[in-house]
Amino acid sequence: MQVGDPDGHGRYGHVDEEADGLLCHECGGHYRSLGVHAYTAHGMTADEYRAAHGIPQRVPLIATETREAVSAASAARVGSEAWLRMVEKRDPTAASHARTRESFQRRGKDRARQIEVAKRNIAGARKPITRRCEVCDRPIVGRKDRSTCSPLCARISTYRSKSSAPAEVWDQLHAEGAGWSEIGRRYGVTHTNVRNTVLRYRAHMADVEFLEAHGPGDVPEKRG
Ligand SMILES: [Zn+2]
Ligand SMILES: [Zn+2]
Repeated sequence: MQVGDPDGHGRYGHVDEEADGLLCHECGGHYRSLGVHAYTAHGMTADEYRAAHGIPQRVPLIATETREAVSAASAARVGSEAWLRMVEKRDPTAASHARTRESFQRRGKDRARQIEVAKRNIAGARKPITRRCEVCDRPIVGRKDRSTCSPLCARISTYRSKSSAPAEVWDQLHAEGAGWSEIGRRYGVTHTNVRNTVLRYRAHMADVEFLEAHGPGDVPEKRG
């Protein structure tokens, strides 16, 4: 299938937007959040929806108006409590589903940790005497040009800024018995890509768990 070809109710590779929301390829309805709708109505995660209809990660699955409201709300992120409250006003059923399964899937273990640190950083923003590590929230000493406190936190930060593949979902699928090739076919990528992505994700989560258990100090630059 080529970008622009007819695909269900829409066009492959495109998200069509009208005043009442984004067009769902699966059912032809219009919705403020295709991510929430695809999950609650069609049982597809946002990544599965993107894969099925050729939608690149850079194309939002949230209607422009809703998206602008989200960016206007200062600390609000997709999946955050503020975002859920907003969705709840527009689509209470979707929001209640989002609260349970999707908020877990969207955020995941790593995302939940990031939100915790972000909350602490926001709370501490009123007294900007000490710069704090964006990963672990500890004061930054002797790394004035950095946003992280240590090589460990720098590595965690780099992984988070670069990773875009649904690594946690793939890791979960593999843990449930799906092979690398099987996952690759579902998402339209090679089995090598899936395996490397999951191994990087596991190394990253090992870093995150090490950080939680031991703090950021005395960690080798690279782990084997
Ligand atoms: Zn639909
Ligand atoms: Zn740190």
